Amino acid sequence: ANSPLAGKVALVTGASSGIGEATAAALAAAGAKVAVAARRIDRLATLSSRIGKAGGAALAIEADIAKGGDVAAMVDKVVSEWGRLDILVNNAGVMLLAPAADADLDDWRRMIELNLIGLMTTTKAALPHLKAAKGHIVNVSSVAGRVANPGASGYAATKFGVVAFSESLRREVYADKVRVTVIEPGLVRTELGDHITNQEFKAGLEHRLATMEALTAEDIANAILYAVSQPPRVNINEILIRPTDQE
Ligand code: NDP
Repeated sequence: ANSPLAGKVALVTGASSGIGEATAAALAAAGAKVAVAARRIDRLATLSSRIGKAGGAALAIEADIAKGGDVAAMVDKVVSEWGRLDILVNNAGVMLLAPAADADLDDWRRMIELNLIGLMTTTKAALPHLKAAKGHIVNVSSVAGRVANPGASGYAATKFGVVAFSESLRREVYADKVRVTVIEPGLVRTELGDHITNQEFKAGLEHRLATMEALTAEDIANAILYAVSQPPRVNINEILIRPTDQE
């Protein structure tokens, strides 16, 4: 019972910090072998050795999820190393807040290419293996995939997109016994805000984080672990999880 994921192989994207890092550690502690992917390979190496020291198995893979070639190589590497793929956590993402009138077009493209196309490409590449394993796909959307706030038009477009993609996908693959879960976190204390290029919105997020008790990355990792630890008949389709302090 301490190792509900024993024998399973997981792949977590965006595992070099925040939610992805916490999720990889949680899945490994539950007995899964975990491949961790992102661009910052130094961070992934540190995480892998931490998982290894705790008695788990990890594999660090340098990959830019916005690049189709990296995505294909990443999935191939997991399967060639461990022979299967049971759990895919599509977590890599950026949140570049700005009002539409002032938005940097490169910010919009980055979000669409990573949060949406990257997630879709990774899913497509992994799907044959997930079907073979009767596996599980966990897509990290956001409260912004349910509620579109001013300043988040580009980001919300990608996260609503993730919700729509996931629901269509669920209905395509349930007959293959592949489960699909969407996670919709509210504000979580991570590095997500560090990349915002609009200074007003960056400061606004920092102010919100300073004046409320946000969720921790571990809170979201717990929700993901719950979803993927259910018996095969249980398909947790959606988890919307806000900090108690968030409206
Ligand atoms: P972090 O910034 O801490 O983590 C983001 C992760 O994505 C990092 O590991 C980063 O790694 C990775 N990443 C970024 N760009 C790329 C890329 N091109 N290729 C591969 N990996 C990439 O933020 P969070 O942990 O908060 O974010 C994780 C997910 O959670 C995102 O999808 C985010 O939208 C979502 N989310 C977060 C919320 C929050 O309040 N924090 C709320 C709701 C949803 P690297 O830079 O090394 O590549």
